[in-house]
Amino acid sequence: MHEVILGLLPVAYYSGSAVLGCEDMLAGHRLEEEQSMARSADLRRVLMPLPGGRRIRFFLHWSDGTNLEAVDQKVIDGTYGEETFSGAVVGTDVPVRCETCVTRFRALVVEGGTPLVPNLADRLNRHRFVRRCPNCASLWRGDVLRVMEQVGGSARP
Ligand SMILES: [Zn+2]
Repeated sequence: MHEVILGLLPVAYYSGSAVLGCEDMLAGHRLEEEQSMARSADLRRVLMPLPGGRRIRFFLHWSDGTNLEAVDQKVIDGTYGEETFSGAVVGTDVPVRCETCVTRFRALVVEGGTPLVPNLADRLNRHRFVRRCPNCASLWRGDVLRVMEQVGGSARP
């Protein structure tokens, strides 16, 4: 884990090669799942401090092909700046249900309520989203950054 300053907050940043331990986990998260997410090529796991010493876990997500190993290296070397994260938006994982085929997924969606990235509206305009349900290809909600897994059955065979 490395501390980075995002939006003036000291955030715990996990590089793609970070090995998560108990001290990195928050209540309600499963280690295996967190570790798998933390190693993704298009996102990085961060813990943001809250008043009172609690922490909340988000993911930074890139859709512009930024080489995250290079981002990791700048963090590790302490040579990162705001521009290092200029392609990132903040996401959180939630259950998402397709209204057309009723399939349920765990997905990463945009989290707009954090101070971690500036100019969020501009970033969202440039970002690529998962606009269609992976099961039935219907257009669905507009804030899905990434679909992790299907967690419920479909109404269609
Ligand atoms: Zn669907």
